[in-house]
Amino acid sequence: MLTSQSLALFQRAQESITGGVNSPVRAFRAVGLTPLFIQRGAGSHIWDADGNEYIDYVGSWGPLILGHAHPAILAALRETMAGGTSFGAPTEREVVLAELVKEAVPSVELVRFVNSGNEATQGALRVARGFTGRAKVVKFEGCYHGSVDALLIKAGSGATTLGVPDSAGVPAAVAETTLLARFNDLGSVLELVEQHPGEIAAILIEPIPGNMGVVVPELAFLRGLREICDREAILLIFDEVMTGFRVARGGAQALFGISPDLTTFGKVIGGGLPVGAYGGRRDVMSLVAPSGPVYQAGTLSGNPLAMAAGIATLRALTEDVFAELGRNAQRLMEAWAAAAKAAGIAIQTAQFGAMMGFFFTERPIRDYADATSHNDTRRFAAFFRGMLEAGVYLAPSAFEAMFLSTAHSERDLDQTIAALGKVFATL
Ligand SMILES: *Cc1c(COP(=O)(O)O)cnc(C)c1O
Repeated sequence: MLTSQSLALFQRAQESITGGVNSPVRAFRAVGLTPLFIQRGAGSHIWDADGNEYIDYVGSWGPLILGHAHPAILAALRETMAGGTSFGAPTEREVVLAELVKEAVPSVELVRFVNSGNEATQGALRVARGFTGRAKVVKFEGCYHGSVDALLIKAGSGATTLGVPDSAGVPAAVAETTLLARFNDLGSVLELVEQHPGEIAAILIEPIPGNMGVVVPELAFLRGLREICDREAILLIFDEVMTGFRVARGGAQALFGISPDLTTFGKVIGGGLPVGAYGGRRDVMSLVAPSGPVYQAGTLSGNPLAMAAGIATLRALTEDVFAELGRNAQRLMEAWAAAAKAAGIAIQTAQFGAMMGFFFTERPIRDYADATSHNDTRRFAAFFRGMLEAGVYLAPSAFEAMFLSTAHSERDLDQTIAALGKVFATL
């Protein structure tokens, strides 16, 4: 596989863009390669700068549930942009997208659109703090909520549950407002709640973690969080930036029948344009400016092009579409497990709607400690390179999810499954 054009572009990029990329995982460091520069996409396929073609299971890291360059999205964008790209004033499309979100996710009574998932979690956390008058937030090791200061904290030693920043530049004073619990471990949450009575504004969680690999949540654990929040007047925030309109039309909260107080969205609701949103209970969201004292604003928030892409995407995602996505994803992950088994390699797979993942281990993965200590990342890197050579583009890290789109055809799946058979046999 020739990738000299990508390499030349990467070298050039490093002269003017820090690290050569505008988001770290794109650099391919975890798999010992340099990034492919992508020239174009159509449906389920992408082409790199050297003309190599791949079946794409990244989908721009989640947004592209309809595939690349979907005709309905392109048509909506063309029609919208002919009338101007931004006004910084309200437009009807914002109302339409808000109504679509509310209809699909009943826990959302009021919503605010922003430009990224990052901004959504930041806004949700601020309004939770404003509503409760409390400062602390419980988050879970291994859950990712964007590069927001207070949420860039994942690893604490067993002894201390106070947050230690994961990044330079996060002040200790900010990190101290973040309390770390373990996913699927209600006891670790109860301990924090007992140690910090009346201080916790919110419990923030990816209801199905997708940023430490895809981890299966225990229903009793998620239900337990709801009960703790009700008892302690803590707000439960589901970060559905990845899972919203991805694992089901109504997101993870629809799958599990649990109603959070606030929800954050991103990725799919922007159909490939920069969008995020946060929303939830009317009494909480009413505190956001201008109706309340919690300030949050954005020059390009509710941008017409982004709203148009989101509307086209959500309108296409009917229950029937999700049923088919789920069937295809299940078929793929069953084949994934079978191909590994045939090669004598132990893996764990997970699949919820059109979100999929796997770990190279024989042990079930319940939390971040399991994911980081048992997942064979060297084997993943070899697997990744083999699949890439075979024309299958996966996320370049052993701790990312895979995404299926409506554009993935039977033929794509057959080709992927054939590649799996070959590549697992080489590991
Ligand atoms: C991607 C992601 C974010 C951040 O969204 P951006 O649009 O990248 O800022 C936040 N939370 C979760 C669960 C995500 O997967």
